[in-house]
Amino acid sequence: MTGTLLIIGGGIAGLSAGVYGRMNGYKARIFEMHSQPGGLCTAWQRKGYLVDGCIHWLCGSGPRMTIHRLWQELGPAKDIRYVDHTALSRIELPEMTFTLYTDLDQLEEYLVELGPEDEEVIQELIEAVRDFVRHEALMQAAWLPPKGAEPARWEEFGGFMQKWNTTTMAYFMDRLRSPKLRRAFSALTGAWMPVFFFLLPLAYASQKSSGYPIGGSLEFARSIERRFLGLGGEIEYNARVKRILVEEGRAVGLLLDDGREVRGEDVTVISTADLHATMYDMLEGRYLTDESRAWFENVPVIGSPLQVTLGVKMRVEESPSTVSGVSFRPRTPVVLYGRPQEMINIQVFNYDPTAAPEGKTVIRTNLYGDYTFWKKLREMPELYEAEKRRVAGEVITALDARYPGLAAQVEMVDVATPVTFERYTGNWQGSSQGWVPTPQASNGTAWFSKKTLPGLERFYLAGQWVEIIGGVPSAAFSARTLLQMICNRDGKEFKAEIEA
Ligand SMILES: Cc1cc2nc3c(=O)[nH]c(=O)nc-3n(C[C@H](O)[C@H](O)[C@H](O)COP(=O)(O)OP(=O)(O)OC[C@H]3O[C@@H](n4cnc5c(N)ncnc54)[C@H](O)[C@@H]3O)c2cc1C
Repeated sequence: MTGTLLIIGGGIAGLSAGVYGRMNGYKARIFEMHSQPGGLCTAWQRKGYLVDGCIHWLCGSGPRMTIHRLWQELGPAKDIRYVDHTALSRIELPEMTFTLYTDLDQLEEYLVELGPEDEEVIQELIEAVRDFVRHEALMQAAWLPPKGAEPARWEEFGGFMQKWNTTTMAYFMDRLRSPKLRRAFSALTGAWMPVFFFLLPLAYASQKSSGYPIGGSLEFARSIERRFLGLGGEIEYNARVKRILVEEGRAVGLLLDDGREVRGEDVTVISTADLHATMYDMLEGRYLTDESRAWFENVPVIGSPLQVTLGVKMRVEESPSTVSGVSFRPRTPVVLYGRPQEMINIQVFNYDPTAAPEGKTVIRTNLYGDYTFWKKLREMPELYEAEKRRVAGEVITALDARYPGLAAQVEMVDVATPVTFERYTGNWQGSSQGWVPTPQASNGTAWFSKKTLPGLERFYLAGQWVEIIGGVPSAAFSARTLLQMICNRDGKEFKAEIEA
């Protein structure tokens, strides 16, 4: 046993740091403020229905992409079954329905049919997705065994990444001539978005490696918790960390909310909790710099949705099933923030038999979550609850128009706002995935990307806030690369074993 890891947070990054810590001979203790694992990767039961608050798609769910190895090491490859959808999304516009298929041949044919004049642009886009698939193994080779791709090939991936990370979707969208495709793409994505983040979900889905975990996101997190405990790790729930104890420029322990001090032999502290809370509260602002302060003030975060989930006593069908749901224009208004919503997005969970009892259905509606609006309203609990009820009522009416008779069959209503996600996990502004991946935030040179803070030894960061973009694989990957760093620091060869 060499050294003790005190890990703040039992979300995906914290659990994964624990697993890799144990694989490498560290004593690993996780402190999680909640009564269960998962953090943002969670789900909850309401009146016999499963409300999922996270995974629509998991990169690496299937074995055709190299990143699958991550889940073989951490547990979920063995424990969980996944559903692969035939479409990434579907948008029902007044003039057309647009389906983003996951099969690339089918998608190419479909897009060319919609806009024959754009065949060349479409081919370039599809080729870029195929190129992503080809490069994925190189991308993972940087950190998965066999260790280190040959440097020349690593450069090849670097070039690919650089190209599509610094090119925005405007590159394709501005060249489209077909009015249908122009309309469909502007409904699908922002012209500001780096192309890389458009290619990524399509590449994984095309390889059946971007599935939904049957049983939901909490079961997924529990699988990593099981792996951690099986390796001899310790996790303490209902243990909120108040301060990180620092002596002579070195992190030496934790002070918990209940007044207990946690120390240990040869301690390393890892925070996988919210970055803002880590910097401003747990470290009392002592390691903030002009750059990090300005960053928190100016760089936007990826917010959380306003999520209305219904349990209905009837079978509802939607086909094809999609990764990120069906968006359509409601026939009756759903008014949010003073404006009727042009489109609403729904996910019908019939593909998960554990979501609802036989003959019943869970339908989740994802709406835009305006954090500032809900945060203000939360100060007036009665108005907050009333607004949630009003929105849910309008969603039910809108869904009743789509699925006649639904309103009378509603047995369960659950509304989660961005403030719910904030309250549950402590994530700053209720963020679901950390920073918006603008070119500025995703070029790998930001102040947090080294996962360390200047002037503070034996302290590290991992999780969604210190990666180019958040997400479940990104959080796990963040922990894995961190443990590689820590092993390197301690002169040890990093080990990661696939679960037998
Ligand atoms: C609605 C929604 C949908 C999403 N969909 C997907 C998807 O389809 N695919 C995908 O890959 N990702 C998805 N994500 C993103 C993904 O869930 C997150 O990026 C990822 O789970 C972040 O993990 P993390 O461990 O870095 O952070 P967190 O999950 O935030 O974990 C941090 C943990 O620290 C704990 N903590 C905080 N402060 C303290 C403290 N003081 N003391 C002790 N513990 C503390 C929190 O309770 C939490 O458990 C989604 C997120 C949301 C909200």
